[in-house]
Parts: sequence; structure tokens; C-alpha cells
Amino acid sequence: MTTATTILRQHLIDPEICIRCNTCEETCPVDAISHDSRNYVVDAAKCKLCYNCISPCPTGAIDSWRNMPADQAYPLAEQLLWDNLPAQIALDHGTEVGAGDTATELPDEVERIAAASTAGQGGTAPPPWSAAHPYVNLYGIHAPAVATVSGNFCLTAEDASSDIRHIVLDFGSASFPVLEGQTIGILPPGLDAAGRPHHVRLYSVASPRDGERPKYNNLSLTVKRVTEDHEGKAARGVGSNYLCDLKKGDKVNVVGPYGTSFLMPNHAGSNLLMICTGTGSAPMRAMTERRRRKFAGGESLGKQMLFFGARSPGELPYFGPLTKLPKEFIDINFGFSRVPGEPKRYVQDLLRERGVDVARLLRDENTYVFLCGLKGMEKGVEEAFTELCRANGLDWSALRPQMLQQGRYHVETY
Ligand code: NAP
Repeated sequence: MTTATTILRQHLIDPEICIRCNTCEETCPVDAISHDSRNYVVDAAKCKLCYNCISPCPTGAIDSWRNMPADQAYPLAEQLLWDNLPAQIALDHGTEVGAGDTATELPDEVERIAAASTAGQGGTAPPPWSAAHPYVNLYGIHAPAVATVSGNFCLTAEDASSDIRHIVLDFGSASFPVLEGQTIGILPPGLDAAGRPHHVRLYSVASPRDGERPKYNNLSLTVKRVTEDHEGKAARGVGSNYLCDLKKGDKVNVVGPYGTSFLMPNHAGSNLLMICTGTGSAPMRAMTERRRRKFAGGESLGKQMLFFGARSPGELPYFGPLTKLPKEFIDINFGFSRVPGEPKRYVQDLLRERGVDVARLLRDENTYVFLCGLKGMEKGVEEAFTELCRANGLDWSALRPQMLQQGRYHVETY
């Protein structure tokens, strides 16, 4: 009988690229990084793979990894002598697949859903130039991460027609790094009508990279319980009902993360123009929360404008917290479509009303547009951009392809 060897995804620092700026050592919350006069090194026994050190590194030297049998991890004394990183060693058969063994191909169903959701931006678009490096496909269908539910909170009013939930998943000691704008896959338990395992359901992460609760290894999702199909006929969504019914302590199989394009810019002075409907607010919540934490820490940020469409205030996820954000932090525009006695207002109507300010933002090459939610909104938003640009001396038909090419226009609609 052979014993399987556990593979460690060993975090290393490339001595050829590193400029010895000490940022990583200052950032590491567990003191796993140290240095001598020659090299910066990572202690495999201490590193918790929290990824906090990755984005502050100015050169990317910190983003270096080798898959090693856990009992053969490179010791500090050896790393201190390196002039360059050793090549990845060949791994024996019989090794256990773990978080570091990134599969190269995404599951077909994930490719299909991702392609459909980004069709509106014309296929794969580059991420913003200053986006952090995303990790993708760390956990596959055959070796999902097992998360524990640490919270499931209703975001909608008691008398609202929809049940939208904020669900917090904790990954314990498993490494599951995500960036704002990425999605994760949920594997609902059980079999479908044909007796096959249910396919993956994708949800956008609604929390920032450092966790729903800072420094905790958790993330959140914004999930609406699906009770009808697109034609309004009664239908029970398998993934959404499974998630909405979860109780604290339940275990959930999670795959991913996915997404290399719909990512937020990180450079100083970058502006966010966010347009969403319903639960399409999930990635916007992640991005604004990332920035809110920076703002609370006194960092000066670019502009943020949010256009958010929902049936009514009671159906708008995160309505309460959003209304409490300081005006100088974010310019929020709500549009409600089903408030008795009031005309229907969609996000495209709001964009037109704020045309002068939207055009001012679009004119700035530090502005990044994110559109997420119902597929139907795309056409109306495109028309609104065309009109407000024309009225304010811009040509949307020329600006749009330019923004796409520069990774400044991102669409994710279902
Ligand atoms: P919803 O409550 O049905 O609609 C939200 C608002 O959008 C309503 O005011 C609705 O108005 C309005 N709307 C409808 N058609 C529109 C159009 N053509 N243009 C502009 N606004 C329009 O929304 P939802 O059920 O939450 O749907 C959200 C969508 O986001 C889903 O397709 C979901 O798959 C997607 N999404 C979810 C996530 C996630 O992580 N959960 C992430 C990304 C995307 P009416 O009153 O006229 O219906």
C-alpha cells in the first residue's frame, strides 16, 4: 500500500526581482517573513497563505510559489542562500491534490456561464492595469473547498416580495483567496432529475479581499431565493434555495475562485462608476467595502458613483448600510421600479438625469465602469451612455471600444 504525500503550496520570494523594500515583512500578520543582508524569505511553518502581502509588493517578487511535498519544504537557511528561485520539482504520483494545485482548465459549465455573462462587453476584456493578481480555479469539482456557514442574514424587508440574503462562508484553515469582482462556485448537494450531480452555481463575492470580517478567512455572498422562472411561473431555484436555507454551522462545497477581468483598479485616483440591478450589487458591495475600509483609514481615494436599481427600498440589498455612507465617499443614485403611486425608474433613467456628472467621469481616463445584474439592463444603459455622451460633447461609440481595450469597461449580466 502506498501512502499519499501531502503537497504544500510553498510561498517564496524571488530574490532576482525583490528590491528589498520590506513591505512584505511589515504586512505579514504572522511574522512568517524575515530577511538578512542578502534575501527576504518565507517560513513555510508560519505562513498561513493569507495573501495579505501579495498586493502591496511593488515588483511581484512576493508572488512566487512552488508545490512541494510538505516534508520537503525549502528551509529558511537554504532560501537565504538563493540568487534565483529553484525550478518546480517533479512530483511523484500518489500526491494529494490540495489548494495549491491549480487546475489549468475551468469546468465547461463555468466557462459557459462566464462567457454568457460577459458577452455584453464583447468577450474577454483585460482587467484594469492596476488590478491585483487574481487566483483562479484553486479548487475543482473533484476536490472542492469545504466552507462553514458563519451567518445567513435576510437583507430584504419583511413584507418584500423577494428574500435576499447575505451569507457568510468561513474557510477555516483552507486558503481561498478572492478579489472583489471575482465569483465562486457552489455545488448544491444531491442529484438532478436525470440522476447526475447538480451543476455548479456561480455567485459574485460580496466582501473585500481581506474578508467579510477583516483578517478572518471568510467571504460573503448576496443571494436571492429564486421562486419563479423568467416568465414568472413558479419555479424553485436549486442553488439559491439551498443557500438561502443554510444554517450557521452547515458545510458547503465551494469551487473556484473564478474571474480575471471584472476586477477593481488599485491605483490612487482611480474612479469607480458602478451600475447594478438587484443582486448584481454583490461585486459593487465588495468594491465599495474595500474602499470604505481604506477611506476609514484616512486614505484619499478617487471618485465613486453608484447607480442602483431595485423594485423598492425594501427589496434593495444593503439599503440601510448604503444610506449611511458619507456623501464625500460615494455618490449614490437609487432607482425604484415598483413603488406604488410612483413612476418606474430604472438605472438608465438615473444615468440620464446625472448625465453631466457621468460624462465628467467618463472623460477621466482613471474612470472604470462596472455593470452587473439583469441582462435586460445592458441595452438601456448603452442607450443612456450614447445619449448623455452626445449631450456632453463625447462620442460613446468611440469611447466604449477604447475603454474596453484599456480594461475600463466591464459587464457581468445574467
Ligand atoms: P430584480 O429584483 O428582478 O430587478 C432589479 C431591478 O431591475 C428592478 O427595479 C427591475 O424593474 C429592474 N429592471 C428590470 N428590467 C430592467 C431593464 N431592462 N433595465 C433596467 N432595469 C431593469 O433583480 P434580481 O432578481 O435581483 O436580478 C439580479 C440579476 O443579477 C440576476 O439576473 C442575477 O443572476 C444577476 N447577478 C447576481 C449576482 C449574485 O452574486 N447574486 C452576481 C451578478 C449578477 P422591474 O420592476 O421592471 O422588474
